[in-house]
Amino acid sequence: MDLTQRFNNQVYQIAVSLIRQFDEKVSGIEGILKLTLGEPDFNTPHHIKEAGKDAIEQNYSHYTGMSGLADVREAAALFLKQKYHLTYDYTNEVLVTIGATEAISASLLAILNPGDKVLLPAPIYPGYEPVITLAAAQPIYMDTTADDFVLTPAVLEKHLLEHGDAVKAVILNYPSNPTGVTYSKEQVKALAAVLKKYPVFVISDEIYSELSYDEEHVSIAEFLREQTILINGLSKSHAMTGWRVGFIFAPEALTKEIIKVHQYLVTAASTISQKAAVRALIEGIDDGLIMKEEYRGRRDFLYEKMTNFGFKVAKPAGAFYLFAKIPDHLEQDSMKFCVDLAQKAKLAVIPGIAFGKEAEGYIRLSYAASMEQLEEAVSRLNQYLLQV
Ligand code: PLP
Repeated sequence: MDLTQRFNNQVYQIAVSLIRQFDEKVSGIEGILKLTLGEPDFNTPHHIKEAGKDAIEQNYSHYTGMSGLADVREAAALFLKQKYHLTYDYTNEVLVTIGATEAISASLLAILNPGDKVLLPAPIYPGYEPVITLAAAQPIYMDTTADDFVLTPAVLEKHLLEHGDAVKAVILNYPSNPTGVTYSKEQVKALAAVLKKYPVFVISDEIYSELSYDEEHVSIAEFLREQTILINGLSKSHAMTGWRVGFIFAPEALTKEIIKVHQYLVTAASTISQKAAVRALIEGIDDGLIMKEEYRGRRDFLYEKMTNFGFKVAKPAGAFYLFAKIPDHLEQDSMKFCVDLAQKAKLAVIPGIAFGKEAEGYIRLSYAASMEQLEEAVSRLNQYLLQV
């Protein structure tokens, strides 16, 4: 019996991500230095690890309720209030998920019907499109390259008008992966004013909210609470990617619908991780700030070097990525450029094309790497540029 022809669901086709494809191409290169990772290079703070160990010792080894332990939800709501002045009722408006990843999947699968359209600013994190496709819905990209990767109210409204009632949701992600762009209070307010006029959900992925360098992070939920599904988590703020803790904050009726999907996707987040999350959110409320200062120094270093090398770079205002235009005299096919750089200089950075066709001609460097690694990377890039 040959089942190979039956692997692919007829409704959707999910391709292997270009980041994975690129990684496979270069990971065999001996001595390769990777500025490709989208995760903190720090260890989880000690006191959070202790809370995890305590949870194991105290036999927190059973399922929790689907929405997560009450003390994590309460701590998450308090964190959001203290940091971003938002008020969510932890009894029915907060859901603990398995990272922001599951929060994205559960939210999209809960609200999308086949044929619905979802607007996304591009370039964009590649984790949304496959889920939209799974729901047999359609992603529509709003090109932001002409506006330095900032989604303007005018571009947003143009797309909302053009696609009309078919638009079910708009995805926002700021501070942004891959561009490092974030939005000021005025900019957030202006986007919210447009969105308020349309019957669309706004899925706001604010996973990098604790990594905003120049101004305070402002959540769109502050101006658009009823339409917003706010996503956050501990992966980036507390260097806890492997613990897999994320959150959804949304009005009660929406949360109820999302829980139905979450229930069958995962049942609940890990109980041990949830206990550690309480420590992170309360005693560790400012753990992210120490890491942020480190990232800031690395950002400044890398920004200056890349600019001096002739790359056009918008100074990242958040997250830990630097998004650079490949200088005109070099190969503009970002995949070819990055493979060549990896082969000749043993330096891996992510080709822009992985973040959509709008990002062709760009590369993404992650500065979630030590200063020594960044210095070595810059030296390798310098050698490469002298050769080509
Ligand atoms: N959203 C964005 C924009 C990301 O960059 C990432 C990870 O790189 C995620 C979500 C996934 O986060 P988590 O580890 O919480 O699932």
